[in-house]
Amino acid sequence: MTWQTLAEARDEALGCTRCRLAGGRTQVVWMDGNPDSALMFVGEAPGFHEDRQGLPFVGAAGQLLDTMLRSIGLDRSRCTICNVIKCRPPGNRDPMPDEIEACRPFLEAQLRFIRPRVVVTLGNFATRFILAKQVSISRVRGQRFEINGLTVIPTFHPAAVLHGGGNASPAFTALQEDFRLIASVLAEPPPAIPDEPEPAPEETAEQEALF
Ligand code: URA
Repeated sequence: MTWQTLAEARDEALGCTRCRLAGGRTQVVWMDGNPDSALMFVGEAPGFHEDRQGLPFVGAAGQLLDTMLRSIGLDRSRCTICNVIKCRPPGNRDPMPDEIEACRPFLEAQLRFIRPRVVVTLGNFATRFILAKQVSISRVRGQRFEINGLTVIPTFHPAAVLHGGGNASPAFTALQEDFRLIASVLAEPPPAIPDEPEPAPEETAEQEALF
């Protein structure tokens, strides 16, 4: 994609008609939070309330996410929150593979321009997208994956925790544990950026072409 800024990518997303979901949406749900923060949450897809308000995680699952953020001393001004797909699937069904592919450039642009240090994937769809692997969330949650300087922490989707028994459930205990891991990873000093040697003059043109 040729977007030069996050705003350019957002503007295109807001008018996007790349997949069938454009026909049923009220609003594109781009993201919430502070793009200067080191922490990004990636959910699955907007639901009813998100579609109406144009913001991610504003329904019951969002309230749980806000509670979990508060439990580690954070709020939405200290992270970004977005989804794998930006439009609500009808009846909140799972996103289809072609919808995820059509929306792929937008989440990739969010990652490229925001450059978070830690990405927390909420549930199977976000985890599979970010890890590029058909993993199961119950197997990988609570682990940390280091990918090109990015720390990825998969955890349960808050909606799954609510549907699976809420505060009394083992999934809620796991979510609490995973948020403690998020806090401890954020408290680590950022990885040092190695000094780059000056490129030899003949390398410069070739290197520019790679980007
Ligand atoms: N579930 C998600 O995955 N994303 C939202 O924005 C809301 C609910």
